[in-house]
Amino acid sequence: MTRDLVIGDELPDWVGAKEFYQKYDPKEVIGRGVSSVVRRCMHKHTGQELAVKIIEITAEKMTVQQLEEVKSSTLKEIQVLNMVKGHSSIITLIDSYESTTFIFLVFDLMRRGELFDYLTEKVTLSEKETRSMMRCLLEAVQYLHSLNIVHRDLKPENILLDDQGHIKLSDFGFSVQLQPGENLRELCGTPGYLAPEILKCSMDETHPGYGKEVDLWACGVILFTLLAGSPPFWHRKQLLMLRMIMEGRYHFSSPEWDDRSDTVKDLITRLLVVDPEVRLTAEQALAHSFFREYQKDKVRHFSPRKTFRVLILSVLACIRMYCRYRRARPLTREVLARDPYSLKGVRKLIDGCAFRIYGHWVKKGEQQNRAALFQNTAKIMLLGFSTFIVGFQVYLVGTW
Ligand code: ADP
Ligand code: MG
Repeated sequence: MTRDLVIGDELPDWVGAKEFYQKYDPKEVIGRGVSSVVRRCMHKHTGQELAVKIIEITAEKMTVQQLEEVKSSTLKEIQVLNMVKGHSSIITLIDSYESTTFIFLVFDLMRRGELFDYLTEKVTLSEKETRSMMRCLLEAVQYLHSLNIVHRDLKPENILLDDQGHIKLSDFGFSVQLQPGENLRELCGTPGYLAPEILKCSMDETHPGYGKEVDLWACGVILFTLLAGSPPFWHRKQLLMLRMIMEGRYHFSSPEWDDRSDTVKDLITRLLVVDPEVRLTAEQALAHSFFREYQKDKVRHFSPRKTFRVLILSVLACIRMYCRYRRARPLTREVLARDPYSLKGVRKLIDGCAFRIYGHWVKKGEQQNRAALFQNTAKIMLLGFSTFIVGFQVYLVGTW
């Protein structure tokens, strides 16, 4: 674990740390990783707010080998971050300092935190919001791949949101620049996002290894998760989950998929392809009709025929909605209590409440368990809980 730095401590003697403390003022913890603590910090002269990732490199709790691994992987991370500086959807490394016991990486501050937390709060995202986030993510991946860099740890925890809600890709701890013709063999990443070829490679010594395509598989998993609220590959027993991944076995069966377009489902099926040779590249994914139809710079020409048609369709839709509204049966307390989960609005409310209460159970490294919160079978406890929430709501409305 990283030792927490206490604000107001005397300046340490280590050279790099001293320079860091002379320039920056570290504040509260805003995130934690496997071997790092991230704090908000302030530039002493300009007052600019930033984030500092503090990585401990002392021998206290690590073996010499582990220590060397952390050191060399952090130096590699710095190298990659310096190479990718300046892309609008990639975090910017502003400064780095190294002492004998800590490495400090100073980044721009992403105030709205992780996409993981945003998704937990929203439960699922709309196709529109997913489209703009995935476009930025794929553009970042395309840029990395053009430099022969593989990220290897794409997941919502490593995608951060700035003040305006724009995403930036972060955590380049596992990323590596490939040499021409080089293939990777290392088993690294996060279980739910591992591509089948990474798993196969770790089980079969004759496997040729894996490459950049693993990032596109992870993009497929992220795209699915944003729209469904739960990941495509999940099983209580991790071995069975890994088998599902290797077979590319997933379904669009949850009720959330009823309202999703065939276009986005098509994109997912082209990303979650077991054979990496057939899987879309970042460039091909960006050219998919899911993005093409809504390009930012698309010029719209006025067409009287099209406008008239849209008007007619809108009027018809309004009439249909009005008729449905007149015909709609009032929602009774009994109907709500009997099967609250079958009603979309209530379902989202229940999931939102469950996530707010139990979100900490699924935090960090166990994000696959997030799927457990979405199991739709009428578990006695879950049904009891949802009935309680709905009953409570009906009670509130009744007493209003
Ligand atoms: P690790 O490599 O140990 O996983 P990360 O770089 O992913 O470390 O950082 C851990 C967490 O710290 C992130 O998931 C995020 O919540 C938070 N974090 C990292 N960088 C920033 C940043 N620039 N702005 C805001 N929060 C950040
Ligand atoms: Mg991370």
